[in-house]
Amino acid sequence: MKGKTWWVVGLARSGCAAGALLRRHGAHVLGIDDNSEEMVRRRWKSESLSNLAPRAFDELATGGVWPSHPPDAVVISPGVSLNHPGLAQLPAGTPVIGEMELGAAFCQADLVAITGTNGKSTTTELVAHLIRRSGRRAEALGNLGTPLCQIADELPDDAVVSLEVSSFQLETVRDFSPLIGMVLNLAPDHLDRYPDLASYYQSKQVLARRTRSDGWFITWTECTEALNWPTSAKKLLFGQDNGQAEVFYRDGSLCLTRDDRLVELLPSEELALQTPPNLLNALAAVAAGLTLNLDDQAMAEGLRDFPGLAHRQQWVADLGPIRFINDTKATNVHAVCAALQGYRRPVALIVGGSGKGESYEPLTQVLDSVVQVVTIGEEGPAIGLVLADLVPVTSADNMEEAVATATKKIEALGHENGGDVMLSPACASFDMFANYRQRGEAFLKSAIRLGAQSKVNFHE
Ligand code: ADP
Repeated sequence: MKGKTWWVVGLARSGCAAGALLRRHGAHVLGIDDNSEEMVRRRWKSESLSNLAPRAFDELATGGVWPSHPPDAVVISPGVSLNHPGLAQLPAGTPVIGEMELGAAFCQADLVAITGTNGKSTTTELVAHLIRRSGRRAEALGNLGTPLCQIADELPDDAVVSLEVSSFQLETVRDFSPLIGMVLNLAPDHLDRYPDLASYYQSKQVLARRTRSDGWFITWTECTEALNWPTSAKKLLFGQDNGQAEVFYRDGSLCLTRDDRLVELLPSEELALQTPPNLLNALAAVAAGLTLNLDDQAMAEGLRDFPGLAHRQQWVADLGPIRFINDTKATNVHAVCAALQGYRRPVALIVGGSGKGESYEPLTQVLDSVVQVVTIGEEGPAIGLVLADLVPVTSADNMEEAVATATKKIEALGHENGGDVMLSPACASFDMFANYRQRGEAFLKSAIRLGAQSKVNFHE
């Protein structure tokens, strides 16, 4: 590092953490961003990076003006494409790595790398929670908030990093080699960034190849693509009780086999998070726990008291018997299907936003409990077109109107036990909001305006 010049491309959270780590180790760091310096600084302020950012860079090159002297090496943030024209001008052979790769190179702790289309953040937090419950230091890092580079070089070798890994981060992997690699599930997503579904899945496959040969590659029994991926790690499956999985659901309980012995870890009704997707996330986390040799009792306790994450199927408010469920993080069709499959209460569903090139057809299969669809945003009309023959659909201009319409519909049912107003949009938020969190907050605010009692703090 000492005396070497590094470029860091993309000056948001990951870029700042990467630059700061490089400078801690003696590199000269040039921060590059296509946005103007004013916009970059505004973002640092709004994302509470104003303390970290000034320590991260020796110089800045903003507004699309790239430096003329080539660097020794480059770190790119997950939001920056490897095909960015600025990178094409680098001399052949200049190393270009991702933020995660850089962090991993400085990290003594064991890495549990978790990817998949849905459930990454929840499972990453849950894995860290189970490890802490069993008395070991664990950090939940990566895509969900704190970048690996932020603390990678401070962690002792007996700690474990539970790391949320996106497909974008996997695009720049070279030497990254976690002890445990996990693929939770695969479904269409990000088709605005990848040319086709196969390329999106392909981006995840590198994790199976890169998992250490003395480690474990973990996946779901139903994830047919990942089951066949080549890996030199040992494979461990979770999911169906099919004789292949070592962590599975049987007769109402989460079970595992340890040294050929069956262990009934706990009845699923004791799980803190009871929804079907969260049962799968729990099995996945236990699979990681099994490979790390965590204590069964500690894992069961952790599963009982894991509080879950905000904005994912989160019961946020009540208006009499009407519940408001904030699932704003359901930014693809697969997540909405997971939310609605087997749902028992009547639901008025708020759906729509900015699209990612997915088909909405799968939604037609999960409408059993849906009594009304309220569409919002750019994709509203396209979703309405697919659903209108099957369920009442109406459109709304903004979140407030959508929540009011959905609530009226549930009230009109007159059920003693009420029903649910659920925001599970199947789309990104950027057409109407800065991010998915702001969309979830707008949902809750709209419910409160109708007189609902909030069950959560706004800024969780
Ligand atoms: P990610 O980090 O992969 O986006 P999250 O844990 O943030 O995953 O959850 C995103 C959305 O996916 C939420 O709507 C959540 O309810 C849903 N979800 C969570 N786990 C699963 C799963 N195993 N399968 C399908 N959907 C899931």
